[in-house]
Amino acid sequence: MANLSLKHIYKVYPNGTKAVNDFNMQIEDKEFIVFVGPSGCGKSTTLRMIAGLEEISAGELKIGDVVVNGLEPKDRDIAMVFQNYALYPHMTIYDNIAFGLQMRKVPKDEIDRRVREAAEILGITDYLKKKPKEMSGGQRQRVALGRAIVREPKVMLLDEPLSNLDAKLRTQMRSEIVKLHKKLQTTFIYVTHDQVEAMTMGTRIVVMKDGFIKQIDTPKNLYKYPANKFVAGFIGTPQMNFFEGTILKDGDRVCINFANSQARLTVPYSALTKVIPHYLDGEHKVTIGFRAEDISLDPVKVEQSQAVVKVKVSHTEELGTETLVYGDINLDGDDFTDTGTRVIIKSGGFKEYESGEVVEAAFDIGAIHLFDSETEESILPRVPEYNYLNCTVSGNKLRTLGTEFDIPPAISCDDGEYELLLPVTALANGETKAKVIGCEKVSGSNLLSLDINGVMVFTISDLAQSNGEANIGIDFKQITLRRGGENVVQPLPLVNSLDATFIMEKVAEMDEMGKRKKKALYSFVIEGEKCVCPDEVCAKMFAAFSGRKVFNTSYTCEFSPYDFTVGESGITATIVGELDYSSERFLKCSLNGKEVYVRTDKPLTGEVKLIPDLNTVSVIEKDRQIRIV
Ligand code: ADP
Repeated sequence: MANLSLKHIYKVYPNGTKAVNDFNMQIEDKEFIVFVGPSGCGKSTTLRMIAGLEEISAGELKIGDVVVNGLEPKDRDIAMVFQNYALYPHMTIYDNIAFGLQMRKVPKDEIDRRVREAAEILGITDYLKKKPKEMSGGQRQRVALGRAIVREPKVMLLDEPLSNLDAKLRTQMRSEIVKLHKKLQTTFIYVTHDQVEAMTMGTRIVVMKDGFIKQIDTPKNLYKYPANKFVAGFIGTPQMNFFEGTILKDGDRVCINFANSQARLTVPYSALTKVIPHYLDGEHKVTIGFRAEDISLDPVKVEQSQAVVKVKVSHTEELGTETLVYGDINLDGDDFTDTGTRVIIKSGGFKEYESGEVVEAAFDIGAIHLFDSETEESILPRVPEYNYLNCTVSGNKLRTLGTEFDIPPAISCDDGEYELLLPVTALANGETKAKVIGCEKVSGSNLLSLDINGVMVFTISDLAQSNGEANIGIDFKQITLRRGGENVVQPLPLVNSLDATFIMEKVAEMDEMGKRKKKALYSFVIEGEKCVCPDEVCAKMFAAFSGRKVFNTSYTCEFSPYDFTVGESGITATIVGELDYSSERFLKCSLNGKEVYVRTDKPLTGEVKLIPDLNTVSVIEKDRQIRIV
């Protein structure tokens, strides 16, 4: 039993293939995690790094509280089950299961207890005296599981264990593995390319593509709230319907126009308040997604619906409990060319449609998905990043949300009207009354919708009181003011990037016996200034390289404005300005042509010496663009 922590894990193969990029995840004890994605997306590589079968190029992997980057597989308290179960043909099933324990010189009676217990759990007790060739594929896979179970590992790793089995057996083994997980109460990590397997087995699923995590979430959330078109298309059968189009807000209505089709939907804006507003201009190309079950041909639903589209039926597939109706929302379509207007509709029971028949379909607008056509990211995110508001600046007052806020000196802009981008994290404690009108739990935090003088805003915070009210203010260092498409006021940068190299020096030291001896001292040279490197950071630096290459590489060291102290010695920077946000002050400094922001308690001018806190540093290797610390 163990939790796992994967921080900024990378795998770069010697031939330069970047198989895994910046993999970050916390896995809780007893979770059943599934890595899923198309072939070559990096799921096996990630699993093999956890197993210790593949070296980790950069990043930190913890099993329990132990950093295991440097540990041999046998010392990691894991067991792995592969697709190819590779049983020893000349040994009995009993010996196949016992073999690993025998090699480890576990006492005989202990081996016997564990083998019999595992066989019992897996229902293969009657086969213990048989040889593998006398068993079916499913039974052999059970033996392979048995071999893993008897090791009583903290973490079970399974790499496509069912892909050699036929479809029926696979479905059966799937539920057996889920049961096994419940019985063993151990953390499971399971790799598959099959989304159905992922959806039916995982408590949480990691969807990967091209070495990147596309989303980590529960099966239900992946299905309901895909963060991008890739996840939306990968999860669910039949695949989500995607249409190209534009969306235009007109007062309190929104018009959804489908490209290459006469179809259009007009829906109340209240159904689409989370859409990033600049997509509502009728110009930006968007991808509109509806799942087959969110479109209905039921005449009653069509009658009641405000969102009806005509569909020309091409053919149907009767699956018993439901019928899949294939059609086109382009009534002039020729059924053959893929125009991006094709649609698949799930219709209950058996229903006959003529080919070429035009039917009316009701789209469930509450189940719409919208993506940027180019980036493919959701533009209707579950948690919006910003509240998009209008505001007026006059003197040191900012008017928005039906009230006025004092503008701190750090914000400088002309009087006038602006677009205000207020991050959902930027609502702080303050004096403006807000009413909580909604609360959605999203991965551990609360997404509140607030009514402030009749305007709705979202916030991620615990500001709400039990009576459903909140007193809010604005954290001005997070805001953006925009006019004519240009950012006039930008948020305070939270990352300062400095150039660095890594060095070793030999320094003389007295040992306990009073003898002089030489000791290696490791430092970063950051913008020309030597800063001693803490042991923990050093360990990560060495873990990322083999040999001396660590010293001949350029790095970017990242610090937040809170990670510097101003001292007598340190990196020299020239103060070029001060940002006073009333509750906090920051120095704007110039350092070798770069801008650096530093939190300060007192006003300062001229030159400062900055001492960065290397315990909180992030280090990026410039060559491979990988985060080492
Ligand atoms: P998956 O398990 O998702 O199918 P893998 O983790 O096996 O993907 O592979 C991820 C990527 O790394 C692929 O592009 C693959 O070609 C590459 N790769 C895997 N093993 C090696 C290796 N030993 N050397 C170089 N490239 C590799």
